[in-house]
Amino acid sequence: MGRIRGVCSAMALFVQRVLIGRDEIARRVDEVGRQISMDLERQSSELERRGEPVGPVVLVPVLTGALVFVSDLIRSMPVSMSIRPVTLSSYPGAATTSQGVTVQGGVPTDLRGARVLVVDDILDSGRTLGLLRRLIEAQQPQSVGIAVLLTKLKPSGRAEEVRVEYSCFEIGDEFVVGYGLDYDGLYRNLPYVAAMGEAPVAG
Ligand code: 5GP
Ligand code: MG
Repeated sequence: MGRIRGVCSAMALFVQRVLIGRDEIARRVDEVGRQISMDLERQSSELERRGEPVGPVVLVPVLTGALVFVSDLIRSMPVSMSIRPVTLSSYPGAATTSQGVTVQGGVPTDLRGARVLVVDDILDSGRTLGLLRRLIEAQQPQSVGIAVLLTKLKPSGRAEEVRVEYSCFEIGDEFVVGYGLDYDGLYRNLPYVAAMGEAPVAG
């Protein structure tokens, strides 16, 4: 393993391989932000042409994992929007496999007629985004889209197949940290996405 610059040795003990570097993330997130904005513009023009109301754009970032991604994404989106974060959890504490989704708070209940974009860090089993899409669609928004930083490829299929309109990167089926993603609450501040290694032996 190469030395990871800018990471203290305690962090480097766990973080094994940088999968997606800082510059590559910046370029791709900017590109996806612009793409989403163009699609929203096109949708507005089409609704206006048909004489239909144009719903407000509401971003729904899934905390805490989407914190870093959404803050970069919105700065590449020159679109009038409001931001309504929700808190869901499926990997509590030191879990590295999904423990089932729990809604911890904040799912907006006034999305009727809105153009909603859910923003999450990663599509894994699909349970989180499947649940959120259902909760939002039940409110009859004008449209719902989902944007994720990462899509984990699952050769054997997901627990729930979810349509994701925008995905920045595809990765293999392994546990990753950084750029918002945590292990036991840590590593979210790494500026890149990295695969986790073995936990160090105590002592
Ligand atoms: P899903 O419901 O699709 O299984 O999982 C989605 C959530 O689990 C993500 O929003 C993310 O918070 C967490 N998660 C899934 N895979 C990983 C991973 O490889 N690393 C980290 N840190 N969190 C993950
Ligand atoms: Mg999450």
